[in-house]
Amino acid sequence: MCGILAYVGHREAYPVILKGLKRLEYRGYDSSGVAMIHDSIKVYKKKGKVAELEEFLMGKELKSTIGIGHTRWATHGEPSDRNAHPHMSNSGRIAMIHNGIIENYASIKQDLLSKGYKFNSDTDTEILVNFIDDILIHNSCSLEEAVRVALKRVVGAYVIVLLDEENPDTLIAARKGSPLVIGIGKGEHFLASDASPIIEYTKEVVYINDYELAIIKSDELILKNLGNEKITPFVQQLDLELSAIEKGGFDHFMLKEIYEQPKTIYDCLRGRLDIAHEDIIMGGVESQIDKLKHANRIIIIACGTSWHAGLAAEYIIEELCRIPVEVEYASEFRYRNPIVNKGDVIFAISQSGETADTLVAIERAKEQGALIFGVLNVVGSSIARVSHAGAYTHAGPEIGVASTKAFTAQLVVLTMIALKIAKEKQSVSHDRFVELLHELNALPEKVEKILSDVSSIQSIAAKTANANSFLYLGRGYNFPVALEGALKLKEISYIHAEGYPAAEMKHGPIALVDESLPVLFVATRDAYHEKVVSNMQEINARKGKLIAVVTEGDKTLAAFTKDIIAVPAADEIIAPILNVIPLQLLSYYIGVSRGLDVDRPRNLAKSVTVE
Ligand code: GLU
Repeated sequence: MCGILAYVGHREAYPVILKGLKRLEYRGYDSSGVAMIHDSIKVYKKKGKVAELEEFLMGKELKSTIGIGHTRWATHGEPSDRNAHPHMSNSGRIAMIHNGIIENYASIKQDLLSKGYKFNSDTDTEILVNFIDDILIHNSCSLEEAVRVALKRVVGAYVIVLLDEENPDTLIAARKGSPLVIGIGKGEHFLASDASPIIEYTKEVVYINDYELAIIKSDELILKNLGNEKITPFVQQLDLELSAIEKGGFDHFMLKEIYEQPKTIYDCLRGRLDIAHEDIIMGGVESQIDKLKHANRIIIIACGTSWHAGLAAEYIIEELCRIPVEVEYASEFRYRNPIVNKGDVIFAISQSGETADTLVAIERAKEQGALIFGVLNVVGSSIARVSHAGAYTHAGPEIGVASTKAFTAQLVVLTMIALKIAKEKQSVSHDRFVELLHELNALPEKVEKILSDVSSIQSIAAKTANANSFLYLGRGYNFPVALEGALKLKEISYIHAEGYPAAEMKHGPIALVDESLPVLFVATRDAYHEKVVSNMQEINARKGKLIAVVTEGDKTLAAFTKDIIAVPAADEIIAPILNVIPLQLLSYYIGVSRGLDVDRPRNLAKSVTVE
């Protein structure tokens, strides 16, 4: 997350930066700031939305044709004025904005402290800008050279943009692992995290690659690698409209959001998964750890897709924490006379944080003395305000109405919460805890692998797009996945679909099975695998059209069906996060081939604020 916007040219920089930051605000929303050169470098920053910065700067003299701006998504240090970017070096010569994490900031900080450096924030960014400053001073070199030397020692991911008081016509930028695009105008350059704020000024852009450094003046763009060799910039023409850019080149927001999952899962894990210290850092959980680990019962309240995430969490929390869990539909819970006791903990799960039924349900439970813990995507939303504590999913704005990336982010956060409670409660062995940390850490790469080849999913979608009905079956951790797969298909393709526990199928739904019914099994390798295979035999004997999501390399199911979607192997607790992704894509491709508006399915709304 985080939005970066910088400008050098003939216009006034501030209005360009402000407008761009507003467009990029979905990328980071806890604070923002700008720096400009007007005789000396002036830095202005404010906690909260960009509008708050705008109000704060109203009437201030901000004349400058060069400047940098940032909307932050905090990783190191709470959202606050002092932690907001840009950060200044101790010498006062450089201001810097940064997207990402400097993983080895602590050791660099120690060195700088011993040299007498002082820090005004808790960020890793302030360490890096002073590290560059220190190299600059001691080597009497150019800023460009100092940046190069510093970046060779930095471990982590970053985009950085620097403003240099001694060269007030030049911006220096570099990237590794985070996005940066440079727009080329007539006598001006625009730097941004994505092209959306640039497109209104120019369609000529250069995407900066990892380990590249850009030296940018109003009429000059020089690209170099970290070895100081020049690179010819590859100028690309954006032939897209603003609305399409906002979809990042994808046909639909839903597809874009499905493809964002390696990144959203990474964003969800970063700053929380501490592999080095074999721990999970979650402020919300830590602040209520006594109540959480001694909870008599956890009641999960949610609606729709979030309810499915809650059901998965029931299995995970009971297994790891040995605390009884109930999963409730908010709309049912609030209208009955539920029994809620003081030692109970309520988990409220909602993407928007505005879901009306969930909101009212937790308000009632709060009155009855329960601790309310929110698992939400939208920062500062109504449910967040009612909750005593919580954990954000950090999936970024989800525009497609059918939830995809928000669901996987919920599963990741709920798994981390369960693991953290289990660790504190000592209800999980240390080895198992560490094993699951590594499984979580491996997720972004495995998701990437699923998304790199979707041909089997597309061919199954082509075969089944005219079906009247679908059955989705799974057992154990994969039962909620089957429910979510069926819901996605209903939402996007308007095909009737049922999700069912695979073994329960013979107590009713099996009557539906004939040669026209697609029956999708979520059948990855887990403790239930042999039982699931038996359930598949039962469908096969009745000529149902079998589709199976299996673990890569599993050949046992090839005897029943050619319609197989392979996913990378994962621990059974983690596997649902991977297994749901092919089901999202299957719904998407079926919906598209039926000519439907997958981003805005009929009768649905994104944030359900009516009861
Ligand atoms: N790690 C930096 C911070 O915590 C940058 C975060 C961002 O990408 O917005 O301030």
